[in-house]
Amino acid sequence: MAVNLNLELTDHCNVCCPMCSQSLRSLAHGEAKSFMAWDTWRRVLAGLADAPDEIHLCPHWLGEPTVHPDFDRMVEYAFAMNRDNRLFRTFKLHTNGVLLQPQRSRLLIRLAASPHQAADTFTTVHWSFDAASATTYVAVKGADHYQRVADNLRAFVQARETAGSLWPRAHIAFVVQPQNVHEVERFVEQWAALLGGTGRPWDLTADWPSHERDAIYIRPLNCADQAAADAMHAAACVRLGIAKEGDVLRAPESF
Ligand code: SF4
Repeated sequence: MAVNLNLELTDHCNVCCPMCSQSLRSLAHGEAKSFMAWDTWRRVLAGLADAPDEIHLCPHWLGEPTVHPDFDRMVEYAFAMNRDNRLFRTFKLHTNGVLLQPQRSRLLIRLAASPHQAADTFTTVHWSFDAASATTYVAVKGADHYQRVADNLRAFVQARETAGSLWPRAHIAFVVQPQNVHEVERFVEQWAALLGGTGRPWDLTADWPSHERDAIYIRPLNCADQAAADAMHAAACVRLGIAKEGDVLRAPESF
């Protein structure tokens, strides 16, 4: 059986999305926010060697994993220990990209190309972006990092191309909400130019994309008025030409 395993490196974050349960509460898990200890990471990874199931690992649940002071070392260790995929079959990173500087991108791309594992082990970096302008970024993220994330994302794709690698895929996310719905077309246009520039096919999807290709994906906001959020998301997808009126847009993974 395949098991999706989220190991939360931290529940701290460096932005403050109004939609996020991490940012809405000072005690995200009912206790003070913290960072996973190095020994805990090592012990949990070691335990995966005995798992009877195929592990699909993501070092994130709430919070932003790259703010962990030991993030690079922890990820590098995980890949060093994963010879012949003995610990995990796949690995994906969810990030807001604020701290995914070019040097860190080069590290991740190098780990994805580790020779002692399946080529598609490090499947994806999900970029939680949600804005096509600095003003909207502040409205949906509560911080002024638009240009920095845009620069980091471009550098990531360029570094991967320079390395001649296919992995990890870049998945660029836009969660539709009242503060950003007006610029969903601009968002797609901006990042379509980047992905299209690689010369490889990429996807534009109305929910979680497959890890087979780079993608821009448009998702509904999870909130108290889910019917309204789903309707706003559906209307945006119709405008983008990736859905028709009345389509069911949620991928099975959304539930
Ligand atoms: S970047 Fe992620 S963890 Fe941080 S506040 Fe936004 S949704 Fe929450």
